Amino acid sequence: MVQRRCDRNRNRSKRRAIYCPEHGCHLDSVSRKHRLYAESAQHLRERGVGRRTALLLFATATTVSLDGEWLECFWCDQCQETTWYHVLKTGERQYKISPAPRDLWQQASGVITVDGNPTVSEFTRRQARATNFNGIKDFNIIR
Ligand SMILES: [Zn+2]
Repeated sequence: MVQRRCDRNRNRSKRRAIYCPEHGCHLDSVSRKHRLYAESAQHLRERGVGRRTALLLFATATTVSLDGEWLECFWCDQCQETTWYHVLKTGERQYKISPAPRDLWQQASGVITVDGNPTVSEFTRRQARATNFNGIKDFNIIR
């Protein structure tokens, strides 16, 4: 019975393998992906980007968008609530999620306030400042 509730009437082929940490059932996305931005070379280096590359990227831009990780809001049928998660893509169809800590929200595009309200001006500002670099996966840091 419990499993049926999780799997009802869904197009399974389109669903990503993202599961509730509490219940292990599929989560339904209720938001778009909010991209994350690195704001310092140090920040990139923490993600495995080499020092030279990190410095080079920040020589031409003040923020660098991160590929392979983002913030997204999900609904769990069993929690009966939505939760913001930090999603890390770990493989072709594999994801690792953890509840989004507050400091990550400030790195997200479409910046979300603690109340869950996007601030449009901040989003626009960040988009304008961001470089088009979104190929962190080229550096093989997402495993
Ligand atoms: Zn749940």
